[in-house]
Amino acid sequence: MTQHIGELNPPVRLMLTPGPSSVDPRVYRALSMPLVGHLDPWFRGCMDETQILLRQIFQTENRITMPLSASGSGGIEASVLNVLEEGDDAIIAVNGIFSERMYEIATRASSKVTKVEAPYGKPVDAEDLRRAGRGKKIKMIGLAQGETSTGVLTKLDAFRKVADELGALLVVDTVASLAAVPLHVDRERIDICFSGSQKALSAPPGMSPITVSLVAEEVFRKRKTRVQSWYFDLTTAMNYWGKDRLYHHTPPISLIFALREAMRLVLEEGLEARWERHRVNQLALIAGLEAMGLKLLVEKPADRLPTVTAVIIPGGVDDVKVRNQLLDEFNIEIAGGFGSIKGKIWRVGLMGYCSQKPNVLLFLAALEKCLIDQGFQVGSGAGVGTAIRSYSQVEAATAVSR
Ligand SMILES: *Cc1c(COP(=O)(O)O)cnc(C)c1O
Repeated sequence: MTQHIGELNPPVRLMLTPGPSSVDPRVYRALSMPLVGHLDPWFRGCMDETQILLRQIFQTENRITMPLSASGSGGIEASVLNVLEEGDDAIIAVNGIFSERMYEIATRASSKVTKVEAPYGKPVDAEDLRRAGRGKKIKMIGLAQGETSTGVLTKLDAFRKVADELGALLVVDTVASLAAVPLHVDRERIDICFSGSQKALSAPPGMSPITVSLVAEEVFRKRKTRVQSWYFDLTTAMNYWGKDRLYHHTPPISLIFALREAMRLVLEEGLEARWERHRVNQLALIAGLEAMGLKLLVEKPADRLPTVTAVIIPGGVDDVKVRNQLLDEFNIEIAGGFGSIKGKIWRVGLMGYCSQKPNVLLFLAALEKCLIDQGFQVGSGAGVGTAIRSYSQVEAATAVSR
């Protein structure tokens, strides 16, 4: 039996999801550039440039700074496995699926991992970690700066303090927050920080940028046992990304091209301007959603992650029907909830290239249409009108401050 398979022709969607986000045309162009070998002298220069860009985005001077050939979960795996050996104590702050994943990976490396939890929609209290670690020798504290499954932002300074008191390394997942939320790896003394290419960096999925402090490097050197994972052993991976450029594995060269261009876009815009853009667009989105009578999962504004907004699905409204209608009628993809909050929330992503005023206004109008079709009472034009006023207020405020 032969079956004809047609030429690839994917739909062009607006991906307002918690990743992947839509990408800038310049990134597509970089992706289609000619392949070169991973040991080609020209490509070595390209690797240098990629690392220079990454250090600027992480705000670090760390020698070990590179994109891992893996999705964001590979970043979690590398961070945890390089630090923990059997019998080491670690504490993971868990407030959603992704921080839970870090806990799960840690338990595979050591049997002495403590989970400190917060209810979905809230950050973990650093005080609870301090209590959990009292009297113990803790090797690492892990948390997610942005917990994508619930849309919660965690402030890092209190955790750095606890890590100092306990003599622990601080490991931070910034997969959903890098290049969208203020982060200064060196100034905040984060020991290991990793991210994902497909979220606020707006490159295709498949790379996990990571950076490691000198303090953490020293901990790696003092290991008694080898890292369980050959692929994610950061010291040997640095034979390739370090000055020797020795073969370790063949990296996804085209993805490195794309990531390099995506990072150039980040720095052309400027980190601070980009953080502000994410903040302002989420404020407008939230103003519009609330004007339509919708409620958010994360109650405290200071706890809201600018890249992902978790909206409580109102009673009588069908989760899947709304998401299908958004896709079929408006070409917009949003995400639902995971696990215990499946069917209870929508997650609207405004990440990187997607975090734009026209997208916010289009999404609010489209959602309003879907809700009206299901008989949900929304004030006519309330969402879009209120979002427009939110933008005007920000514009007036910046005009005054100029
Ligand atoms: C998306 C995400 C991950 C996992 O990334 P993958 O690329 O899906 O492996 C991990 N942590 C956070 C906070 C995320 O948002």
